[in-house]
Amino acid sequence: MKLKKHLGQHLLVASKVLTRIGELINPSEGEVLVEVGPGTGNLTKEVLKYPFKELHLVEIDAQMVEKLKELTADPRVRIHRQDATRFDFCSLGKELKVFGNLPYNVASFIVENTVLSHACVPQAFYMLQKEVAEKLQKGPSWLSTFVRSFYRVEYLMSLPARFFLPQPRVQSGLVRLVRLENLPQLDLLDYKGFLTELYSMRRKALKNKLPQEVLLLEGIDPMRRVETLSPEEVLLLYNRSKNIRGEQR
Ligand code: SAH
Repeated sequence: MKLKKHLGQHLLVASKVLTRIGELINPSEGEVLVEVGPGTGNLTKEVLKYPFKELHLVEIDAQMVEKLKELTADPRVRIHRQDATRFDFCSLGKELKVFGNLPYNVASFIVENTVLSHACVPQAFYMLQKEVAEKLQKGPSWLSTFVRSFYRVEYLMSLPARFFLPQPRVQSGLVRLVRLENLPQLDLLDYKGFLTELYSMRRKALKNKLPQEVLLLEGIDPMRRVETLSPEEVLLLYNRSKNIRGEQR
């Protein structure tokens, strides 16, 4: 099969690693699983060895979908030929365990879409470009703060390029997102807008980004830079900004 570079098709082929990832995902009785970008199904086959209720495969490429059809011999498997950057995960269930060796060119959009669906995704395991995985865990970036407002990000392992076919030019990293106990209640798209704005030119001092009043009320030094803020502080600033905007209306 000819693999498509523009769809980020780099198949995970190292059997020991596939086994290990299966163990980490650890599907169990009654769970509804979702795999993003299953490709030829290498990881899927590993996961099929476990007990669970349903496995939904979200794959954009028709050729891959054809290949995956053989896996529907297992009645728990359903295929969705869909774009995972826009797919409505919550249409599949209320408590989903999502996983995938993501197409790296659109991985951040898939992570973003996961956050938008956090109400029905308590856990996700994603293989990402190592650099992206590390930045997601530590920041600073709008996406990292967006993710960490709802999930704890655990860095599970690094993988060298030789475990993939064809080899990507970058190293890979596996992360686990574990949803937080106390979730902020907010308008996700409005919050995203606030973050993308805040993190543009993140070396600027906060006083150039937010009203003085907001910073003073939260006791945050106006000379600090955006990149020094923790996700908790960003949430405080967001809520405070919203309240002030609300009062001014
Ligand atoms: N999980 C497989 C393949 C990973 S490669 C393995 O580990 O071997 C990434 C896969 O994501 C490819 O199958 C590619 O076709 C698919 N893909 C690319 N863009 C996608 C998108 N927007 N939505 C869903 N799948 C996508």
